[in-house]
Amino acid sequence: MKTRIGFFDFTGCEGCQLTVMNLENDLLQVLQLVEVVEFRELMSEEVSEIDIAFIEGSITRRQDRERLQTIRERSKILVALGACADNGGVNLLASNQDVASLRQQVYASDAEHLQTFTPLPLHRVVKVDYRIPGCPIDGQEFLAVMQALLLEREPELPNFAVCVECKLAEYPCSFDYGEICLGPVTRAGCRAICIEGGDRCRGCRGLVDNPRTSPYHKVLEEHGLSVQEILEQYRIFHIGEE
Ligand code: SF4
Ligand code: SF4
Ligand code: SF4
Repeated sequence: MKTRIGFFDFTGCEGCQLTVMNLENDLLQVLQLVEVVEFRELMSEEVSEIDIAFIEGSITRRQDRERLQTIRERSKILVALGACADNGGVNLLASNQDVASLRQQVYASDAEHLQTFTPLPLHRVVKVDYRIPGCPIDGQEFLAVMQALLLEREPELPNFAVCVECKLAEYPCSFDYGEICLGPVTRAGCRAICIEGGDRCRGCRGLVDNPRTSPYHKVLEEHGLSVQEILEQYRIFHIGEE
């Protein structure tokens, strides 16, 4: 019997699910090994048991919480898909504002019926077994995690900073253009795609473990910054504030 996988979404832009669908030929190969039993973007069926649930988005309503708990009960393995699910992502940009007032501004006369609370990452509601960071996720990393799970191995995320991938690719450093880049403290795995595109790293993949270790101190020292100063820039993805 094939491994039964499901995709579920809560509050998010669905960009992470779109990344999965954009895998095209790679996805067709994966589909030979698994059976997709739930995926709102593609089908309407529901099943009682799932081997691996990939869940996108943050939890923002009471009914989301209940739905997530039900998915957890039905799933052997639960994977947080993308920053919104993993740590709240951009949904938490407004976390320091009054939720009732925000609701009123967004929903006006419907605000009473749409009872939302400050967005929660999945792990604040249920046990999360594995996580795929990023906004959006990296498609190749999704495939690597899927492959590990199908082989019953522990999926591993890179535990070094984006700077390493950036330096290896010999991209020009954003600091040299006067931009504060979060690459020195952000977990690698995206191949420094934003730097490649002429931007800076905004930290969507979250903190690398123990961001005080080399090799990235040197970049900070060269530009007169400390780890603490760079962590203060982490507001966009709400990293380190939980
Ligand atoms: S992590 Fe980013 S791409 Fe994924 S659902 Fe959230 S906002 Fe969209
Ligand atoms: S600070 Fe940013 S641009 Fe500079 S090397 Fe690191 S990731 Fe690349
Ligand atoms: S460079 Fe930074 S912001 Fe861009 S995808 Fe990688 S981790 Fe995310």
